[in-house]
Amino acid sequence: MFLTYEEFTSRADAIRARIASACAAAGRDAATVELLAVTKTHPPEAAEYAARYGLAGVGENRVQEGIEKRPQVASPLRWELIGHLQSNKARLAAQHFDRVQTVDSEKLLNHLDRAAGELGKILPVLLQINAGNDPAKFGAEPGDAPRLLEAALAKKNLRVDGLMTIAPLGATPAETAAHAARTFTNLRNLRDELTARFPAPLPELSMGMTGDLEAAVAAGSTLVRIGTALFGSR
Ligand SMILES: *Cc1c(COP(=O)(O)O)cnc(C)c1O
Repeated sequence: MFLTYEEFTSRADAIRARIASACAAAGRDAATVELLAVTKTHPPEAAEYAARYGLAGVGENRVQEGIEKRPQVASPLRWELIGHLQSNKARLAAQHFDRVQTVDSEKLLNHLDRAAGELGKILPVLLQINAGNDPAKFGAEPGDAPRLLEAALAKKNLRVDGLMTIAPLGATPAETAAHAARTFTNLRNLRDELTARFPAPLPELSMGMTGDLEAAVAAGSTLVRIGTALFGSR
């Protein structure tokens, strides 16, 4: 059975407390870090709970799952695609999601821009960067980020909000923590380099999950994507 709303609120309160203490430790205002509820694999109630709690957005990993779930959720929410997107699903993603966080190639940019144009919308996107140099992870290589950003800024139907990354896991908790700190600092530094070179403020840094949100907040995350701590294991 899926968790009750009361169970959800105590989990969400606990996560907000973690965000608040990470912000306090970093000298940041907790209002500058948004909590994105990752509802993948969970029923539509998960998204309803998030909305009722006052969260603005939910994240889904798979295009098809989001398309099926969204019509079952009455509350207004921002639906974000956080999983890898193949070009052949770009049109569906542009149609059914409010933002795509996983843009990692010029080919995908081209497909999303064309689809958004045909749909008559401006689609917000994040560029996903493999800031931890994880061979198993998707995302553009940091060295390719300037070229990717330049291409993205030239797209009439896309709006580039910022960058997204996923930290690689290590063999031990200590190694995982070290990877997280390194990955998130890399993404923050890359953002600062890009904003110095290009006319784009790139305000959004989507980084941090259940296991590593503190490191992400310390490095400047503006959006933590939390699934397990809110809804239980998948
Ligand atoms: C599943 C997922 C999350 C949530 O991870 P948890 O560890 O369950 O909080 C965040 N980001 C992405 C890209 C994911 O796929």
